[in-house]
Amino acid sequence: MSTLTATPVSDISEVLQRLGIEQVNSGACTGTQWLNTTGETIDSFSPADGQLIGSIKQATAADYETIIALSQQAFNEWRLVPAPKRGEVVRQIGNALREAKDDLGKLVSYEMGKIYQEGLGEVQEMIDICDFAVGLSRQLNGFTMHSERPRHRMYEQYHPLGIVGVISAFNFPVAVWSWNAMLAMVCGDTVVWKPSSKVMLCAIAVHKIIAGVLRENNVPEGTVCLVAGNSKNVGDNFLADKRVPLISATGSTNVGKRVGRIVGERLGRSLLELGGNNAIIITPDADQEMALRAVVFGAVGTCGQRCTSTRRLIIHESIYEAFKQKLVNAYKHVKIGNPLNPATLVGPLIDKNAVNDFTNAIAEVKKEGGSIVCGGELLSGPGYESGCYVTPCIAEVENHYKIVQHETFAPILYLIKYSTIEQAIHLQNDVPQGLSSAIFSNSMRETERFLAADGSDCGIANVNIGTSGAEIGGAFGGEKETGGGRESGSDSWKIYMRRQTNTINYGTDLPLAQGIKFEI
Ligand code: NAD
Repeated sequence: MSTLTATPVSDISEVLQRLGIEQVNSGACTGTQWLNTTGETIDSFSPADGQLIGSIKQATAADYETIIALSQQAFNEWRLVPAPKRGEVVRQIGNALREAKDDLGKLVSYEMGKIYQEGLGEVQEMIDICDFAVGLSRQLNGFTMHSERPRHRMYEQYHPLGIVGVISAFNFPVAVWSWNAMLAMVCGDTVVWKPSSKVMLCAIAVHKIIAGVLRENNVPEGTVCLVAGNSKNVGDNFLADKRVPLISATGSTNVGKRVGRIVGERLGRSLLELGGNNAIIITPDADQEMALRAVVFGAVGTCGQRCTSTRRLIIHESIYEAFKQKLVNAYKHVKIGNPLNPATLVGPLIDKNAVNDFTNAIAEVKKEGGSIVCGGELLSGPGYESGCYVTPCIAEVENHYKIVQHETFAPILYLIKYSTIEQAIHLQNDVPQGLSSAIFSNSMRETERFLAADGSDCGIANVNIGTSGAEIGGAFGGEKETGGGRESGSDSWKIYMRRQTNTINYGTDLPLAQGIKFEI
């Protein structure tokens, strides 16, 4: 494994300045106004070099109340703005993000730890969803259908829903918000965002970037809000709040179960985007060079901290040893270091707790009878002072191990052998999660088998593409313990709207449906 010492981050203070990040920042924003918060201060340290980036005065329960009340008022106005006009605001937000792309990408990289290229990719995803949402603002279409009654017309329409609560995970500090917020905005909803406490500065920067657009377009104050607070002040109260008809939560399955339960008790809507345990099947006639590139990116990219990271590799027994060797060789060339260094491919884990989860998982693998092929060490020394750098690990395991069934949010790749395609698909599905899956094969019979009704049970199933990363045009999400939610492209917008069926009688008679006779 090749390691890199970190380059000094000389220009980060200029980036912070341009983004409007101060030493101490308010965590509560109503669009263009920042509240004078009095909540507990939280410090944000970079996992890249352990340096303090800035502090946040978190939102209090009273700030939360102020924001929700204002957001309700804003909804009454915003829902009446024609959808294409709302789309025009989103178009301008996309342009503001284009201008800030380099700086925001750098902050994402520095605060979260993903490499700069991925930080840029994340901001590009925000821009792409803005473009998508602009088009969507003219296509919030409902069906029309033929009535069974004479001189009657039936159709469906979609109305704005209300406040959309967005809870985001640390690993996509800005993109997850945009997937939800940009669709919600064109749908006529207002948005209240509770970001992860590990990456609050990214959320603050996003709000500073879009404030000018909101101001110039007279968007009602309260339409797009931020409540960066701890879960005591912005937690179960947010989930239980009947004024928030939809909670879209991205995070671990444990937190998602709590969200589902509390929102469900009040019969609210929840959109859950939770953990994955993603596998790639590699068949005997796969293009192994292509598969290798997809596996390495999927397993070590973002230091294994993507919901779609490749966690399991299900390899045909006839090519198992050869492919394992190729992987080990490839891992030797993966450069680990400061995520802002252009040569780096793997940055740090988010914090020391994540490092503990990584080392504990490796200990569990050994305890259950698995063996470590390579990696699994904590790096120390110059450039690694933050204590968050590890060497990506490859382990040989059996699929039923408890630790393999669990999502460890770190770069551990489990190798599993198979002999028939039916067995491979069974292994792929035999975990509690159902997010992303892939097969590398040139056999049409095997790939179609993988995509059939009794094939992959995941929300995402790819052929000759890895598990990690997705385009915004498709609906994104997964089944089973991944939560069943879908966001981003396709018709995911429908969950952000209130659906209404309308039947209009333009005749002079009042026939009842199903021919029921009821004469007075
Ligand atoms: P996490 O579950 O620890 O936290 C997620 C969010 O939930 C955070 O903002 C957290 O503050 C918030 N939260 C926790 N308790 C809450 C409560 N009672 N009320 C309201 N909010 C509460 O997850 P994480 O460590 O930030 O992110 C990693 C996890 O997210 C992984 O499991 C990963 O697979 C998952 N993830 C899933 C997707 C997806 O689209 N399926 C995308 C990204 C990340």
